[in-house]
Amino acid sequence: MVMRLILLTIFGPLFEFNIPLILIALLCSLIFMPIASILVHGIDTLLTYFFMFLKSMPACYIYFSHQQALIILQVFTFFLIAWLITWHGRKYMTYRFIVCSFLIMITSYYVQEKEDEQTWYVDVIDVGQGLSVLVRTQDQSLLYDTGARYASGFSMAQSEILPYLRYIGIASLEYLVISHSDNDHAGGASLIEKAMHPRRIKLGEPLRKQVLANSSFCDVGERWALGKLSVTVLSPFKRLKNSNNNSCVLRISDGQHAVLLSGDINKKQEALIVSQFSSQLASQILIAPHHGSKYSSSKLWISVVKPKWVVFSVSAMNRWGFPVQEVVERYKKQSVIRVSSGTSGFIRFKIDSHGIKLQTIREDLAAYWYHRSFFL
Ligand SMILES: [Zn+2]
Repeated sequence: MVMRLILLTIFGPLFEFNIPLILIALLCSLIFMPIASILVHGIDTLLTYFFMFLKSMPACYIYFSHQQALIILQVFTFFLIAWLITWHGRKYMTYRFIVCSFLIMITSYYVQEKEDEQTWYVDVIDVGQGLSVLVRTQDQSLLYDTGARYASGFSMAQSEILPYLRYIGIASLEYLVISHSDNDHAGGASLIEKAMHPRRIKLGEPLRKQVLANSSFCDVGERWALGKLSVTVLSPFKRLKNSNNNSCVLRISDGQHAVLLSGDINKKQEALIVSQFSSQLASQILIAPHHGSKYSSSKLWISVVKPKWVVFSVSAMNRWGFPVQEVVERYKKQSVIRVSSGTSGFIRFKIDSHGIKLQTIREDLAAYWYHRSFFL
């Protein structure tokens, strides 16, 4: 293992050479194709061996959150600057160290995102065709659904959800809620349970082929606390054959702002929920029922929930055509802002005393050169 670590330290930086090599190969492809082919083949071989090598030492992986990575980078920069300015003599070394520390403190202040104690987030993770929403306060998190897992073994939980949770520094969940047993919602349940040790697991209905220890069913009318937020279970009333209508429907609120997570319910279940909870449904953010299918999002549902934003969690150009135009029009007629993960990717709502701020990876969060506006 030590030998492998030494090899990685020596050869790891060589990995970086792939980027200029790819650029050179692209240029060559315009001038002389055979050289470009040799280069591309070489890069491919290099990458294959590099990933094979990495795969052989998973125990060496260390996960850093975004915040931790930033601190490591700052400390490294601090030492580098301090070392450079003390290169020629040590006369004013102490003062220089103090100036460096001060500069780093100032940059930290501006780099860190400002948030108060009341701030909470609704993150719609881009899991393609499926659903996974993270609702988090300063110290507690609830994950609603876990995306799909495919026959090949590939799962959205492994490739999208877990990396994101680690990136924002979440090591365990307060709640894991699986709306219902369909693969696009429950596919990654076991994996998330193992990796994130949720304190409580709530299910809309029994899962197929997966058994989660210490799980219990969502009971309508139940209330849970998530930090300073209140979570209310609005459905299912009783578990029926129709899996979609067994979805555990949640309204999460800070008393002023709310998000409604509606799984895959259809119009019939929407009407039932409206008849029971009509005065308690109003929510600024609505995660559209059943990814915007035509059998959900009735006029009645939209007019009672009165969302400002509706989110369609779908994959781009999915085979069902979700969200269907008819549903999009229904929301449009009631002046609801429509956001789709199929076109915007990851979607985040930041909620605090100033109100609700919407950000998407394509427009706001990714590096500028990835923004959609950059290409328009
Ligand atoms: Zn679904």
